[in-house]
Amino acid sequence: MAKSTLVVNCGSSSLKLAVLSEDFEHQAQVLVERLDTDHPSASARIDGKRESVTLEPNSDYADALATVVRLLESKDVLTGDPLVIGHRVVHGGENFSSATVIDEAVIGAITACNDLAPLHNPINLIGIEATRKLYPDVPQVAVFDTAFHQTLPSYAYLYALPRRCYQDWGVRRYGFHGTSHAYMLKQLGERLDKPANALSLISAHLGNGCSITAIEKGQSRDTSMGLTPLEGLVMGTRSGDVDPGLFDFLQQKGLSRDSISRMLNRESGLLGLSGKTNDMRAIVEARDAGSATARDAIDVFCFRLARYIGAMMASLSRIDGLVFTGGIGENSATIREQTVAHLQLLGFTIDQNRNAQNGRQSSGRIDSGNGHAIYVIPTDEESMIAREAVDAAYPDTPKNH
Ligand code: ADP
Repeated sequence: MAKSTLVVNCGSSSLKLAVLSEDFEHQAQVLVERLDTDHPSASARIDGKRESVTLEPNSDYADALATVVRLLESKDVLTGDPLVIGHRVVHGGENFSSATVIDEAVIGAITACNDLAPLHNPINLIGIEATRKLYPDVPQVAVFDTAFHQTLPSYAYLYALPRRCYQDWGVRRYGFHGTSHAYMLKQLGERLDKPANALSLISAHLGNGCSITAIEKGQSRDTSMGLTPLEGLVMGTRSGDVDPGLFDFLQQKGLSRDSISRMLNRESGLLGLSGKTNDMRAIVEARDAGSATARDAIDVFCFRLARYIGAMMASLSRIDGLVFTGGIGENSATIREQTVAHLQLLGFTIDQNRNAQNGRQSSGRIDSGNGHAIYVIPTDEESMIAREAVDAAYPDTPKNH
């Protein structure tokens, strides 16, 4: 029986599991939300069909993992031990530049990064411990959001702060969404039939979290997220860049450290600007129906994104493509159009028809043909995590991907 790979993404507000076949096709996907509440919820898609999952009230991450694994086994999606288990781990600091087989030393090194990602790394570790108990004999691999960006040059990762901030506390720009940006590199390479080290591109991942990366000759050279995933673009509920003087200002207004942090992480971005929702689809509908706050949200989102695309050009010697991905990047023609409209001087122009079809009729290309190539490429972080996990756990096996 062919063996599957299990991908575990234990996030701050949800648990996602995926099972992928030996050739990295999706067999099952499960989403669990509202853990540690009276009403945890779970939904599963197995071989393309919806399945219901019942969780006990107040289930924690370990309970939910055990329940979901039992379901996957009962449906014959997981038969015996998986080949490998790949864990999405948000912060690897400077310790990890590639996917790594988990042992006690690796757990210690991930724990050492807890300060840098207090909302994410401790929960990632809970997922790792729980699956190690469920599958003690299966290799477990940590795939880091930060790893792809470990090639940033020092001039891109240093903040202009006293040196002790970096030396004593590791304060620098790390970058995130590395798995998705690396997947864009792989996908563009396949489309252009070019090896990664011959490719230069700008990858814009626009989901609830948003980040943009300049990839020069296959390496991340600049990216918009920094010490934490808060820096950079306007996101669903995160502010992205603000003046650091804002912290003092808000404290003078009487806001506590916690309320400032909550404001910047959970109440800002599209939600803050629109005053209603972080859902870009609903914001586009509201703008089209005449809402001025929805228009502001979209205008700021697109302008900030265009500014960052311009900034990313400083890291490239050539460009094989500007790539849009993530829920917004893949689906919203109007956001892509409004963003690219700021970039004519830099040689980006869109083809209206191709853009309206999200590039589906044109191999992902949505540019006019009179400038740089622009692509829409659906991301698949889970298959990338599975591939990296297999490669790390079985380095001597010939790659079929
Ligand atoms: P996550 O980062 O949580 O994985 P996604 O990549 O699924 O999120 O992106 C979610 C975002 O994509 C939401 O803002 C959603 O409104 C947006 N989105 C999805 N489809 C569309 C669409 N057709 N038009 C505009 N926005 C869309």
